[in-house]
Amino acid sequence: MDFNLSDELNLLRQMVRDFVDAEVRPIAAKIDEEHEVPRALLTKMAELGLFGVPFPAEYGGAGLGELGYCVVAEEITRGCFSTAVTLGATASIGGMAIYLGGTEQQKQQFLPKLASGEWMGCYALTEAESGSDPASMKTVAVRDGDEWVINGSKIWITNGDVADVITLFCSTDRAAGARGVSAFVVERDRNGLRVGPREKKMGQCGSSTCSLYFEDVRIPDANRLGPLGDGFKLAMRTLDRGRLGLGANCLGSMKEALSLSTKYAQERVQFGKPIAEQQAIQFYLADMAAEIFSVESAVYRAAWMCDQGLPFSRESAIVKLLASEALDRAADLAVQIHGGMGYSREYAVERIYRDSRVNRIYEGTNEIQRLVIARDVLKKGI
Ligand SMILES: Cc1cc2nc3c(=O)[nH]c(=O)nc-3n(C[C@H](O)[C@H](O)[C@H](O)COP(=O)(O)OP(=O)(O)OC[C@H]3O[C@@H](n4cnc5c(N)ncnc54)[C@H](O)[C@@H]3O)c2cc1C
Repeated sequence: MDFNLSDELNLLRQMVRDFVDAEVRPIAAKIDEEHEVPRALLTKMAELGLFGVPFPAEYGGAGLGELGYCVVAEEITRGCFSTAVTLGATASIGGMAIYLGGTEQQKQQFLPKLASGEWMGCYALTEAESGSDPASMKTVAVRDGDEWVINGSKIWITNGDVADVITLFCSTDRAAGARGVSAFVVERDRNGLRVGPREKKMGQCGSSTCSLYFEDVRIPDANRLGPLGDGFKLAMRTLDRGRLGLGANCLGSMKEALSLSTKYAQERVQFGKPIAEQQAIQFYLADMAAEIFSVESAVYRAAWMCDQGLPFSRESAIVKLLASEALDRAADLAVQIHGGMGYSREYAVERIYRDSRVNRIYEGTNEIQRLVIARDVLKKGI
């Protein structure tokens, strides 16, 4: 067994860590307050090749797979969750669905621009009346000659107002349920596409989240991703990948919470000595470190399985479940260790606490992850 990352991935980690120290963490509070990840920051990330990390070189990527993406996601999140989520919607789910489901021509058409960071992407599945049950979606695409005409709306779409291309899932046969869902790529400038205002959220405030409205939006059949009726499977295969990146995001945020808490506990003096000398505080730090070890092991093992071409659906659901719940506990302890200061916007743990909560909700709620895991256990055993 070899648990070491390759030299290439260690170099990538160091490069992203240096970038985060210099360019991301210093502006994370501003990103949160101004509800905007600056385009200039995304351009710098693009210049470093971060949007292309998981994709093969023939599509403009670095060919570093899911392990590479997880390294980047972890490090970026240490500095700013909103920035990592903006990257993730483009590379980990929006672009990934095109990579997994597209024809060679579609990959050549869309991926190099997404991998270079010239274009932003997004992944549009959820609707107002279909969240955990996406097969009941109402957005439809109806064939008209060589075109498809799309009507309906999507809600909660990360990067909705910054994406140049939308990876869209809609029904092409409502009677067929999940088997009637198909996937499409919709360019942002198509007539009839309207983007709603940004949602006002509890956390991850720099990341944009919007509704998308489709009114007789016409796209050519050449923009259909994969066979008709295979869209639901593609949506789920893509989320299997997305949940690994989500786990890596949670891991990065947990490490940041522990690092900030350790520093604070060593500096803050009460009863004549640093609070780090109190056993209660030491236990909190120990619990955080233990959960980091467990989440780190799960994230990188599952990403390795993915890169090896092994089945990893159950593991990716486990990663999502473990990581998001462990981050919630770590963020809560970090606030507790900071006392009143943990409740102040002056301290980053306050933002980490708000940014953490949604990880138990998006990319499939944790209740749904438990269903996925349990069904697999009942079918295949442990
Ligand atoms: C900030 C943010 C960003 C997002 N980004 C995207 C995006 O980029 N693209 C996208 O397509 N979507 C996105 N989403 C949507 C997200 O994936 C959904 O919110 C999520 O899947 C849950 O759907 P829902 O909100 O409709 O909740 P519901 O499905 O209404 O669930 C409500 C509650 O009921 C529970 N529940 C539902 N069914 C069951 C069941 N069978 N068994 C047990 N419990 C159940 C749920 O677990 C949850 O606790 C985003 C959401 C947020 C908040």
